[in-house]
Amino acid sequence: MTALTQRNGLPLRPALIGGKPVEARDVIDVLDPSTGAACARIARGGGAEIDLAVTSAREAFENEWRHASPADRAAACRRIADAIRSHREELAELESLDTGKPLSQAFVDADAAARYFDFYAGCAEALFGSTLFSQPDAVAYTLTEPYGVCGHIIPWNYPMQVVARTIAPALAAGNACVLKPAEDAPLTPMRIAELALTAGLPPGVFNVVPGYGEEAGAALAAHPGIDHMAFTGSREVGTLVMTSAAANIVPVTLELGGKSPHLVFPDFDAEQAIPLIVSSITEHAGQNCSAGSRLLVHESVRERTVAALVEAFERMRIGPGKTDPDLGPLISEKQRTRVLGYMEEGKKVARLATGGGVPDDPALAGGFFVQPTIFDDVPHDSRPAQEEIFGPVLCVTPFRDLAEAVELANGTSYGLAAGVWTRDVGLAHHLTRELRMGQIFVNNYSAAGAVELPFGGYKRSGFGREKGFEALREYTQCKAVAIRTTPPASPPTSSSG
Ligand code: NAD
Repeated sequence: MTALTQRNGLPLRPALIGGKPVEARDVIDVLDPSTGAACARIARGGGAEIDLAVTSAREAFENEWRHASPADRAAACRRIADAIRSHREELAELESLDTGKPLSQAFVDADAAARYFDFYAGCAEALFGSTLFSQPDAVAYTLTEPYGVCGHIIPWNYPMQVVARTIAPALAAGNACVLKPAEDAPLTPMRIAELALTAGLPPGVFNVVPGYGEEAGAALAAHPGIDHMAFTGSREVGTLVMTSAAANIVPVTLELGGKSPHLVFPDFDAEQAIPLIVSSITEHAGQNCSAGSRLLVHESVRERTVAALVEAFERMRIGPGKTDPDLGPLISEKQRTRVLGYMEEGKKVARLATGGGVPDDPALAGGFFVQPTIFDDVPHDSRPAQEEIFGPVLCVTPFRDLAEAVELANGTSYGLAAGVWTRDVGLAHHLTRELRMGQIFVNNYSAAGAVELPFGGYKRSGFGREKGFEALREYTQCKAVAIRTTPPASPPTSSSG
């Protein structure tokens, strides 16, 4: 199968169902966010294609994948990792084209995608149940079993990483999958599914149906043939997906948004902190669920911290992803309008320290660019401080003491991540317990994080964990077995004499 077939002069990517390309009744144009021009076309899948994909996944699960040994599942995941690595350049360029992210960031994502498949290959062979003591005349144990057919709906911001982190553990645990990638950035997930097939994954074990959320996504979430649903995206859509899962009584994991704070104390190491605070809110133009979008800074170091950040923001090179700038475009005009709306709101309630609009370089006019922006003195209860902007916009709020810092940090409905900047080890440990977030970084802030580190939200940032060994638990269910060990009163006699 070729990676791209041509139609109307633009590459077209069909759905991948049962190992075969499947065209839909219509197509969707995929835009290059750096220029605003169409760069590919994808099938516009809907209910019919989802139905076919779920049926295909069910057959592959029942007839083949659930019987594969852990060693065989591990080997398949390793081959997929190798295939991703050997197509690293192609995948990174495709990701940069499709999402607009700087090329070097796309390379990091390609490497992380391969690493997920490697990591879960190892986990597949270490996934055991346990033997339990129950009674002297019985033995009891648990089996760790896959759910069956898993549905996966993913967003556009880190398509390559998110597809790997959700599909790899599901496959390693023995499930068959149906993926609905985001219509705004579907290209690398679709390519990785092709690579998995050519790497020897049995047809039907990993199916992809591209399309709009309200069509293909809603059909997948509501399909009665799905045994488990994994969703990464916005809170609003997460609520819809959870409602559909509830109607079918299937478990769901939700990876939703964040409004993650950095807490900067007077003894912090500025040289270490400033670059990571900058990258945490400007990587992929701030379109990152765990972006460090709030800066809570002790009032004694606020002025110099904001000055250093402003200087770093104003040095950033803005440009198309393929030129590997410091800051690429946002994903779409819709997203840019949304981010600019928050910038206007910020100008009303806070002090604009830098940025606040669209770059004036005429060469960037076609793309969806905004300036990296800092608002200082942002009231804690204002919309820019409370709501996820999903753009390169940092909101600074000062604090006077520890109690206020904790109150501000925990004072949103989100709970995804936090960065703590202090040399005081006791204070750092205290905060790891006080902060209500799923990931705490101390003197460090890794938006992508390591694949081994469980990732997920507290509060309205969602529930369930992806990444790490924890994710395997999301994709398996526990079966308890108890067997009587005493022989029956009259042992059976041999009928053959
Ligand atoms: P979104 O919720 O609009 O879309 C996510 C996916 O859901 C897309 O594939 C979309 O097509 C699909 N979808 C849309 N409507 C649907 C419906 N009615 N039924 C089923 N599926 C539907 O989110 P987005 O704008 O693509 O992504 C941005 C959001 O994702 C942000 O809030 C961000 O924080 C969040 N996010 C979270 C994580 C995480 O791990 N916590 C990672 C990345 C993104």
